[in-house]
Amino acid sequence: MFMYITYTLTLSLQFKFRHKGATVSHNDNQMDKKKIEQGVRLILEGIGEDLTREGLVDTPERVARSMEEIFSGINQDPTELFKVTFDVDSHDIVVVKDIPFYSMCEHHLLPFFGTVHIGYIPSANGKVCGLSKLARCVEVYARRPQIQERMTQEIVQAIQDGIGAQGVIVVVEAEHLCMSMRGVSKAGAKTRTIKTLGSLNDKDARKEALSLLDI
Ligand code: ZN
Repeated sequence: MFMYITYTLTLSLQFKFRHKGATVSHNDNQMDKKKIEQGVRLILEGIGEDLTREGLVDTPERVARSMEEIFSGINQDPTELFKVTFDVDSHDIVVVKDIPFYSMCEHHLLPFFGTVHIGYIPSANGKVCGLSKLARCVEVYARRPQIQERMTQEIVQAIQDGIGAQGVIVVVEAEHLCMSMRGVSKAGAKTRTIKTLGSLNDKDARKEALSLLDI
């Protein structure tokens, strides 16, 4: 896996793919909202805030509700997404660019967000998945406490396992608020991670896929 930091990045908007809203159901039963509320109260007390002031009275409950959505990918199984596949008479690469995502850095519990670009070669017997399933797969892995490197790896693996793709490439570009608003305070810095599997591990195939993704 390659990782480097680039300070300016403007992506071509061609082949733009828009993911419409949250399509992943929430795990209402698996989160202990009361515990989250207690935690938020402790943080607010810890930083010296007055929990009774108007703006903060309902904050623990609001945060608990938003956590359900932000972390709704926990315990979601992406293999469900690839149960339905379609036959194509082609082994050409399928490319989906600019899938937006929001995730939470598990080291600081601060957001990191950006775009995911995916390319894959259909399975040997010509199977492809619905394009929206790729965006949903991103959601499953983004909506968890994460690090970008692991998220990249998990998405690439899920696509290979789910479709039986002969080759997969996933590129993730993100800004990390733990870098922008604290620590080194480098607003706008983007981290790019790239992971390939199967036939796209080949140097020339990888290079071609990256150029198709405008990377
Ligand atoms: Zn962090």
